[in-house]
Amino acid sequence: MLQPDRVVRTICPYCGVGCTLELHLRDDYIYEVQAPWDGVANRGLLCVKGRYGLDYLYHPHRITKPLMRKTPQRGGARTPAQSMDDWVEVSWDEALDFVAERLVEIYRTSGPRALAAYGSAKATNEDNYLLQKLFRALFQTHSVDHCARLCHASSVSALQAAIGSAAMSNTALEVLETEVALVAGSNTTENHPVIGAFIKRAVQERGVKLIVVDPRRIELADYATLWLPLKPGTNVALFSAMAHVIIREGWYNADFVAQHTEGFEEFARSMEKFTPEFAEQVTGVPKEHIIEAARLYAQARRAMLFWGMGMTQFAHGTASVLSLVHLALLTGHVGQVGTGLNPLRGQNNVQGASDMGVLNSVYPGYMKVSDPANAAHWEQVWHLPPGTLPTQPGLTVTEILKAAGPQGVRGLFVMGENPLMSEPNLAEAEEHLRQVEFLAVQDLFLNETGVYADVFLPAASFAEKDGTFTNTDRRVQRVRKALEPRGQARADWEILADLARRIEAKLGLPYSAGWHYTHPREIWAEIAAAVPAFRGITYERIDRVGLQWPVPSEDHPGTPFLYTRGFPSGKGRFFPLDFPDAPEPATRQFPLTMTTGRLLEHWHGGTMTRHSDLDALYPMPVVEMHPIDADALGITDGQPVRVSSRRGSVVVRAHVTDKTTPGVVFLPFHFAEAAANLLTMDAPLDPQAKIPHYKATPVRIDPAPEAELANPVWQPRGRR
Ligand code: SF4
Repeated sequence: MLQPDRVVRTICPYCGVGCTLELHLRDDYIYEVQAPWDGVANRGLLCVKGRYGLDYLYHPHRITKPLMRKTPQRGGARTPAQSMDDWVEVSWDEALDFVAERLVEIYRTSGPRALAAYGSAKATNEDNYLLQKLFRALFQTHSVDHCARLCHASSVSALQAAIGSAAMSNTALEVLETEVALVAGSNTTENHPVIGAFIKRAVQERGVKLIVVDPRRIELADYATLWLPLKPGTNVALFSAMAHVIIREGWYNADFVAQHTEGFEEFARSMEKFTPEFAEQVTGVPKEHIIEAARLYAQARRAMLFWGMGMTQFAHGTASVLSLVHLALLTGHVGQVGTGLNPLRGQNNVQGASDMGVLNSVYPGYMKVSDPANAAHWEQVWHLPPGTLPTQPGLTVTEILKAAGPQGVRGLFVMGENPLMSEPNLAEAEEHLRQVEFLAVQDLFLNETGVYADVFLPAASFAEKDGTFTNTDRRVQRVRKALEPRGQARADWEILADLARRIEAKLGLPYSAGWHYTHPREIWAEIAAAVPAFRGITYERIDRVGLQWPVPSEDHPGTPFLYTRGFPSGKGRFFPLDFPDAPEPATRQFPLTMTTGRLLEHWHGGTMTRHSDLDALYPMPVVEMHPIDADALGITDGQPVRVSSRRGSVVVRAHVTDKTTPGVVFLPFHFAEAAANLLTMDAPLDPQAKIPHYKATPVRIDPAPEAELANPVWQPRGRR
């Protein structure tokens, strides 16, 4: 057996489970990945991405030297630079001086609101902290945001409004210690596979009763006591009907409601219309199943709520999440092990990027930018003159693109994001991006967004740098450098600190916000000193096992579950709800509802997995449709079809399967050659969270000629 030169313990770069990996290296090559039994989030388990999906590090298309456009782009209507002949390799000095010069020039001529930045849910806490520090401290703009806006922004707005805190309240593995688990809008075994495995184990070995709410017959439905296949976009009706039943039958926890909540009476009145009969009509779920789900959840001694993007990605996403949060407030299933409100965060560090303030309205630690006291706090931390930081929130990711142009956002810095795969209504988003006057992209590959850049800054991968990720359980964990960066790539934090020093020099500031870090440990120390929830976390304390924030002091053991002594807002708040109208109704022309999501073998925009051998496991997009719909349209399994919405169309093969329900089609969003977001709508957005309506798009499906397939490889799926 091959013996490693060294074994490096770190954290998986894919999903929010935050599995501990042991990288086995020989001759600077990761030839094997193992999962240690004392990895707290995964206990020896890994999914296919963590175990086999790290080879993207070595892919020949990886960019390892700074690049600049051969022909500079000036003004709007920029064009993509697809060929390497369009680029020229430059030194770091040349690249960073150019970025600094252009950003400063735009700032001087058009002010703070002409600049914006996208942070990255894949980068470390330290990387993200420096990105928002750079744009806030040097350019006084809060237009710093990231993809949390597109996945769980509505969880954040609903939880903040209801209880005053937005993170997952409990630890995912507590599912082994609960009685009832309700999983809504989360294909957990594909999106958070190790948590999915623990949910299956909880059912099989601990007798936990599982309620699955999803329009598709996902794998967890096979383990469920109840599977509620609702129509996409009808969550509010379903969960409000459960609340209706719980109130009507007197199954709610009257003591908890009286002591720990407010607004119950008005809320209860608003629930009267949500009868199980009404909900059956709206959702398609039999009323008996809604009543039984309400009984199971309410009468359990301990019950957990888990949810994913099938709850959040709607123009009424905040109301959708609130309708679920209400169930916990009614029953008091919070504040103990095996209970709680648990939004499963998608990316490896989406929790951390949010914690670090890469959001348009909050500083690190969720301190609101609108509060002058918070501005004063960060001015002190960053050694800025009083009054430097504005109290006006910035733009969100979708707003940043829409504002692109000579009178709006002229300069954009994108770190480790790919908006031209993740934004809704991609054709429109691409038009907006073309209007950005100056674009810098920092990433591993020249992806769909990178080809539009003026400057490309090659970043180190997760295995080539130190830092921390925060998983979905709020656990801050150590990421370790196992390899030197490929070529001239540098860690994101190093690039940002270098860039910031050059910007400060060009601005001629008489003070410095402090950019002379020699190791991410020093950045973390700055964060921990400034944010009370992290005060007790040091690199030494999380050397082997992470700590779950809040950790207010160095002798604090961390917080596996929250709200033992009530909610941060004092009392939990109920909100009266109405059933929201669909922003775009299905019509005869667009009679099917398209929902989108992830696959086990791929990850988000595909920047990593499509440069991995994992791509061979699932090499092409297919649209899943139910046999009833396929029969009605005369479509057979494997046939090329055109999926069209009011905004655009893609041609893919059809996969006829009873995994979907009649009327619902599913298209994964990983494939640039048939990007699902060409079809999704960019308006309206959720009024509070500004999240788009990704999960229920009216579409039609028509047969298409084989010649129109961008990727004709056809491999029938082995699993359903
Ligand atoms: Fe990585 Fe998530 Fe798979 Fe764990 S479950 S190995 S964190 S992708």
